Amino acid sequence: MPMQPLRGQIMLTYRCSAACRHCLVMAAPQQDPTLVTVADAVEYGRDFQALGRQVLLAGGEALLYFEHVLAICRALREAGVPVGFVESNGSWCTTDERVRARLEQLKEAGVEGMYFSIDAFHQEFVPAERVHRGIRLAREVFGLENVYAPFPSLAEVRALEGVAADPERLHHAVCSYGVHYLGRSADDLAPLASFVPLEALAQENCRADLEIDTLAELQVDPFGYVRPDWCPGVNLGNTRHARLADLARTERVRQDPLLSDLAEGGPAALLPLARRFGITPEPAYASKCHLCFALRRQLVAHLPDAFGPEHVYQICARQ
Ligand code: SF4
Repeated sequence: MPMQPLRGQIMLTYRCSAACRHCLVMAAPQQDPTLVTVADAVEYGRDFQALGRQVLLAGGEALLYFEHVLAICRALREAGVPVGFVESNGSWCTTDERVRARLEQLKEAGVEGMYFSIDAFHQEFVPAERVHRGIRLAREVFGLENVYAPFPSLAEVRALEGVAADPERLHHAVCSYGVHYLGRSADDLAPLASFVPLEALAQENCRADLEIDTLAELQVDPFGYVRPDWCPGVNLGNTRHARLADLARTERVRQDPLLSDLAEGGPAALLPLARRFGITPEPAYASKCHLCFALRRQLVAHLPDAFGPEHVYQICARQ
């Protein structure tokens, strides 16, 4: 089944084989390897399906844990929940034999397609040959219409290698890519942006960004935090306390004072809270999301349920 307009992402892990400069979730090789459990993944899959959302698996790099992904997909299939696609950066695509064997196992386990992340930031870590091999073989295994990859030709992917190491080309990539300046990009890429005064950012709201019922993609992380895919750390709640199906609704935003203030007033709505905890904002930021992230990064220790986990803001290394 092709990619659907409404999707539910089960984020398997914060750990990744890469550490892209634009990563929204601070994924990295040394990041905490906690995995979503098979039982939780089945519950999340059922709830996303009940909300009319296509289920996908992602990370970090979910396919670092291939056998665990297979176990989750088989359990979801048993539960009548198809996995629309698995997101990957293709770093594991070392030989045709290995890739074909793994893609056929995923298909046998009920996976319907693949999504390969390709851009100047991923190609700083993942050789073009690998991700292109993944695309080429996934098209054979899943069919052309079930493989999502921005740049299909090897030459186009190769052209992205080295961009991140070239300040001028990196600046162009940052401007053209539409970076949100959340996660690692708040540190690595925001310095390349033109900053906007706090007063101007205070005019922005997040109504559309928190219109949950029609938002393209929602995410649940390995710790049970449910949030918009583009707003890691802006939590609708946690599945330890409520069902995903009850949390993943616009009504939830309306009910929660913090979320409804954020929707109506944008990140500036967090300023009184920040000042209460002795946090002084900067005079300007790269974007409203940069402001939001910077405040939440300092507030998460005080309000872990609202803005957790810490992994969204830093590497939480654990063996
Ligand atoms: S400002 Fe915060 S809540 Fe609004 S879209 Fe950006 S990250 Fe999401």
